[in-house]
Amino acid sequence: MSYSYRSSRVSTAPRRQSRGGSRPNRSSAQGRGRKGDYIDPSRFIKVATATQTEQYVAQHSFADFNLSPILKANLAAKGYTTPSPIQDQAIPAALEGRDVIGIASTGTGKTAAFALPLLNQLASEPNSRALIIAPTRELAQQIEVECRTLGRGTGLTGALLIGGSSMGIQLRDLRGNPRIVIGTPGRIKDHLLRGTLKLDRFNIAVLDEVDRMLDMGFVNDVTTILKATNSVRQSFFFSATMDAKVRILIDTFTNDPFTVSLKASSASESVHQNIVAYNTKTDKLDKLHNLLIQGNVTKAIIFDETQRDVERLHKELELRGFSTDSMHGGKTQGQRQRALAKFKQNEINVLVATDVAARGIDVTDISHVVNFSVPKTYDDYIHRIGRAGRAGKIGHALTFVQQ
Ligand code: AMP
Repeated sequence: MSYSYRSSRVSTAPRRQSRGGSRPNRSSAQGRGRKGDYIDPSRFIKVATATQTEQYVAQHSFADFNLSPILKANLAAKGYTTPSPIQDQAIPAALEGRDVIGIASTGTGKTAAFALPLLNQLASEPNSRALIIAPTRELAQQIEVECRTLGRGTGLTGALLIGGSSMGIQLRDLRGNPRIVIGTPGRIKDHLLRGTLKLDRFNIAVLDEVDRMLDMGFVNDVTTILKATNSVRQSFFFSATMDAKVRILIDTFTNDPFTVSLKASSASESVHQNIVAYNTKTDKLDKLHNLLIQGNVTKAIIFDETQRDVERLHKELELRGFSTDSMHGGKTQGQRQRALAKFKQNEINVLVATDVAARGIDVTDISHVVNFSVPKTYDDYIHRIGRAGRAGKIGHALTFVQQ
């Protein structure tokens, strides 16, 4: 039997308000009694120095790794010729069975850095099972696609457990005793509590975007889930940032881990950063309009604070003739996927989104990240601007700041 993830059907029911999806802006930089981190606007200004890919010389080729021939063939079919820095450093340790901590953001190739070792292990060890937890549905789906293409021909089966998609299909996939389960914390925990998912035989656990998962309030769910997995386990933790909360979780659930840390600032080094000063709401919109019609803006993602702000801005830009769509937690999963697909395929070149909806999306050719609202924290800022300047290109990040 070939590797056969049976992707769950997407329902059209509006999704539950995602946690943290539209928190009020706590940035005092936005003023008016809102609490939160003050980020000095000077931190939004920086000249890009280099592109990420130019700085790194890989120590290995994929041929050096002790991966099965099927996986090597799938890598070649995907066009991956050279390991990215995180792959170069993490894969040898992971293949030795070590726990791995990766301090790296989306766009660094971290998915294959954990997917290749775990697929290799699952293909050679019939009793192994892997659980992959991601903070958002979109990221879970992206990971599922990457695992499916990298694992083609291995005969492994999987289940994708995310909200907003058919329970029936998930239950059917779980009855098939999948070797790989990928999902978001809420839905995985639902299945665990219903008794439809048993994790005691899962001896590989991956937590992707741990920092975001904790920001979204998933710490208890994640702890419950990890405790339910096999205690003899290989664990992978990936996080763009490392703070005390992330550290505690990692320390609790890893054993003598191997850590790969891509320089924290590496994502932002390939992004020209600047501010756009504005006075009034009208001035703000006009400045955005003028920005978007500049020739070098080929593909832009615009971040705004709440679902309502995002929808309003998307409609306004549409009225002004821009080719746009919106992504936020108030949209159905199908609507979000369609917006993302249009953006990827260049049917639209402006996507307006909340932080949560845009988290982890993998679109390699975004030229501009526009912070129409100031991010709540500097970490959020780094996450946002990491959407641009990927795949060796210089990107731009522009943050609107009231004068
Ligand atoms: P990720 O950080 O895992 O979301 O990966 C970012 C993008 O890089 C995705 O589009 C991957 O398909 C791509 N990618 C990952 N590893 C490689 C590689 N070794 N060579 C070329 N592209 C890669």
